[in-house]
Amino acid sequence: LPRIAVIGNGQLGRMLKQAGAPMGLEVLPCDPSLEEPVSLNPDDVVTVEQELWPDTSRSRQLTAHPGFLNARATEVIRDRLSEKSLLDHLKVGTAPWCNITPDHTTEHLALVGDKLVIKRRQGGYDGRGQWRWQQGEPALDEWLGECIAEKMIPFDEEVSLVGARDRDGNCVFYPLTLNLHRQGILHASVGGLKRLQPLQATAEEWLTRIMEELDYVGVMAMECFVVDGDLLVNELAPRVHNSGHWTQAGANPSQFQLHLRAVADLPLFTPVVDGYTLMWNLLGRDWSTRWLAVPGCDVHWYEKEIRPGRKVGHVNIHRPQVADLEASIRQLADMLPEDERAPLLWGLKELL
Ligand code: ATP
Ligand code: MG
Ligand code: MG
Repeated sequence: LPRIAVIGNGQLGRMLKQAGAPMGLEVLPCDPSLEEPVSLNPDDVVTVEQELWPDTSRSRQLTAHPGFLNARATEVIRDRLSEKSLLDHLKVGTAPWCNITPDHTTEHLALVGDKLVIKRRQGGYDGRGQWRWQQGEPALDEWLGECIAEKMIPFDEEVSLVGARDRDGNCVFYPLTLNLHRQGILHASVGGLKRLQPLQATAEEWLTRIMEELDYVGVMAMECFVVDGDLLVNELAPRVHNSGHWTQAGANPSQFQLHLRAVADLPLFTPVVDGYTLMWNLLGRDWSTRWLAVPGCDVHWYEKEIRPGRKVGHVNIHRPQVADLEASIRQLADMLPEDERAPLLWGLKELL
């Protein structure tokens, strides 16, 4: 088996490493902000768990390695200008948008829509680096050269597709995930919902087109809005993704193992999913060992310092039957302060 070096050593790298352990597949998450070189073998594979990294001798070493995968995909997707251009080029549905150029005027922006989301081209996550704007408000100089403008979409809900492509071009997918975002941050996901099935074929076709165009190898996630029963792609992630965390409990293989299989050139099969899973993100809060008494409940703690709003862990609750999952969610919700129950009650409502 090759060794898998990962650019990035956050929770995604940590969970990739955990997923490799049962197979004896060595995964080496690397902090790209450090200068010290890592010890690499010529036949190692280099993959990423983040899209952007500082220019250091270590990051240059990793990206110059012959086993570095997906250089083009990472470059295209890390900048919203090239990412949205790719979606247009491939005729994949996305919110109307424009680049903000030095000669843009508010009239120019108004052509995209009355209400817009201004997004920094690079480096934004969890809703950081984006602002709402509407006609009549002044344009800000700080947008110049750094942002795109996107029409505000009055979506009904948000879903994502997580899939993988191997070196021979075979693609496999999980069923669409339903996501709850608040203030730009993912709070919860539900996996296994049958009612999203009618959107599955279009979503798979689009993500296949994207992965083929980029000659991509590994797991990719595609975040979408659902508007009147149709999909619009919001953004892509060339890596394992928070909205795929439910697969650790609800699918075989998980997105982490699926990514490792794809990049290590091991066989893939369409993930086997049975039952229903709720994933709840722990944002700036500790967890309680009492939760482990809830049937089907699993805690993933990232061992990060707790800071307000920071993703420090997640909880998966998986049960084969909807009614059992409902009972487990209620049991967990009863253990939480009332003002923290909303993501669980959202999941409950979606399952009913
Ligand atoms: P992530 O942590 O997922 O990478 P991000 O900072 O890159 O987030 P987006 O995914 O672009 O940001 O946006 C975050 C959330 O803001 C979306 O999930 C959605 O809820 C809302 N949002 C973004 N763009 C739009 C839009 N054009 N119209 C309406 N809502 C939007
Ligand atoms: Mg993003
Ligand atoms: Mg997003």
